[in-house]
Amino acid sequence: MSPKQILNKMEELFPDAQSELINWGTPFQFLVCILLSAQTTDKGVNSVTKSLFKKYPDSKSFAMAKIEEVERFIKSVNYYRTKAKHIIKAAQIIEQEFSGVVPSTVEDLIKLPGVGYKTANVYLNDLYKKNEGIAVDTHVARVAKRLGLTKHTDPNKIAKDLEKLYLKEDWWKINRYFVLYGRYICRAKMKKSDCVFKGICTYCTGL
Ligand code: SF4
Repeated sequence: MSPKQILNKMEELFPDAQSELINWGTPFQFLVCILLSAQTTDKGVNSVTKSLFKKYPDSKSFAMAKIEEVERFIKSVNYYRTKAKHIIKAAQIIEQEFSGVVPSTVEDLIKLPGVGYKTANVYLNDLYKKNEGIAVDTHVARVAKRLGLTKHTDPNKIAKDLEKLYLKEDWWKINRYFVLYGRYICRAKMKKSDCVFKGICTYCTGL
């Protein structure tokens, strides 16, 4: 099965695939959701963002926010202290250097604290299908490795391997479908499965 056929199968499995982050209505709010989602479930992020965005709807209000107050809204989220600091600082940079508009290139996005290659590409691909790069998180890394698409463990090297295997126009799909496949089917601790890739993946024994 070719890399493209693997992706096609995943698209068939999740025909209505969307980001599972909700409660956001602007690009800046979406970026905040992604920053909060590191090492945290989307459900955990969704549980705090409604009240957070009611109090701080935009980069201007976050830029002026007191860190302890932002922490209070997000303290059920892992690493909330670091995340509060990053979000406020990112908002200040967006206000001062980007006229209140979230930048739209990886090069500019990674100037924001807490935003690396993965976060920048999740943001750009989910919102704009920008295809500047492939975002590799723990699910993408695990699934790509098990399916023989990479031998690496370093997310940046996995991203480069996947970027060689897939057409640029499909890059935005990799994170979206591999994450869902990893989250709901090819889970971290599983050992048994009769998944659609049983023919090419020997990691699991049959059910
Ligand atoms: S056989 Fe198991 S490890 Fe391999 S792709 Fe399927 S669910 Fe994942």
